[in-house]
Amino acid sequence: MKKKISILGSTGSIGLNALMILEKKKIYFDIILLSANKNFPLICKQIKKYHPKIFVITDKKIYKKVKNKFKLKTIKILNNFKSLKFKKRIDITISAVPGIAGLEPTIFMVKASKKILIANKESIICGWDLIKKDSLKYNTEIVPIDSEHFSLLNLLRENEIKNIKKIYITASGGPFLNLQINKFKNISPREALKHPKWKMGKKISIDSATLMNKMLELIEAQKLFKIPDYKLDIIIHPESLVHAIIILNNGLIKFLYHETSMIVPLANAIFDGNIHIQDFLQIKGSKKNDSIKNLTFDKINKKTFPIIKIKKRLNEYPSTPIILNAANEILVDQFLLKKIPFLSISKNIMNILSDRNYKKYAIRNPKNLNQINKIDQWAKQWTLKKIKK
Ligand code: NDP
Ligand code: MG
Repeated sequence: MKKKISILGSTGSIGLNALMILEKKKIYFDIILLSANKNFPLICKQIKKYHPKIFVITDKKIYKKVKNKFKLKTIKILNNFKSLKFKKRIDITISAVPGIAGLEPTIFMVKASKKILIANKESIICGWDLIKKDSLKYNTEIVPIDSEHFSLLNLLRENEIKNIKKIYITASGGPFLNLQINKFKNISPREALKHPKWKMGKKISIDSATLMNKMLELIEAQKLFKIPDYKLDIIIHPESLVHAIIILNNGLIKFLYHETSMIVPLANAIFDGNIHIQDFLQIKGSKKNDSIKNLTFDKINKKTFPIIKIKKRLNEYPSTPIILNAANEILVDQFLLKKIPFLSISKNIMNILSDRNYKKYAIRNPKNLNQINKIDQWAKQWTLKKIKK
């Protein structure tokens, strides 16, 4: 029987990679649900090409426009997940909406799916307890596909954390790894969006340029694998081929290496590792797909990446991750809109941690989505109000 698939964020970078993989083996899959926000032409194209039974469109105007265009078709076009019911559970859901906006649909789909592949790190950072609770209740398998966490999942399957001295997730360093410090003032959104190794959506590309992406990924790793703070660190690895490293107490060091492409974790997670990656990936610049390239590793330069200063405070209080994530979402938006300079992103994130009201919200331990959203809203409003250029 064909596997039933849903993709949250189907018009984005991860969504399109997932669709490309599924298309190559389309006899095995039925695309039941797709979701997106406002990319009208691509939403229409995906409806015609993949014939999903349901398309959820968040943006109200675009939702109405698409609904109108396809009113004579059998597809259900919805504006949210609330009224949605499935007769049978979805086999695989891919969660790839950026930001906390992905949390509510992810929680909804945890209940309705047998397996969830989570790219949307912000939902793990802000709502892991809720996702975990429902995954246990509904017996849903959760597979992180952020490349570092997919690598850790593999490495930690065979090695217990108690036998590990240190765990590193790697960082490419983004577009400004070797930029002179005095040039940081004038970085434009266009320059910051040009990642040297990965082709990704706007938000995660800016997070990679500031290194906030790695701060979020440290939290993500702690939530997913319960790694104590002192065992977890970041290492610069410009080639982006090794994604995670574990140093064992017994002197062995293991790491996971794969080509710099999200197709690798995605395809492996979809097919439980039973694939020939050549079926999905054309590896550039090498005739042999399995050639191993030179690898370099380096410490992080605090002057290039001032955000690293918050590393010790990432899990200071139960809601610190929600607050940091919310402030960052606003600051990335403001930078992309050219309202603040690049360096203000890290500066303002640090400022919220020294605000007198910070602790009042950070010590809360939210028990449901509503409580998470309240903390998120406070931090977003605070950031907009207090933003310094
Ligand atoms: P993109 O910006 O490329 O795509 C985002 C997708 O989500 C689009 O389909 C977009 O719809 C939809 N979307 C955006 N905002 C909303 C919203 N408010 N409500 C509903 N749908 C929305 O993002 P990426 O694919 O790059 O990233 C997705 C997630 O995966 C992020 O959390 C990121 O951190 C994570 N990730 C991504 C990696 C990558 O290589 N790209 C690597 C590791 C993790 P529309 O196009 O219609 O606006
Ligand atoms: Mg990553």
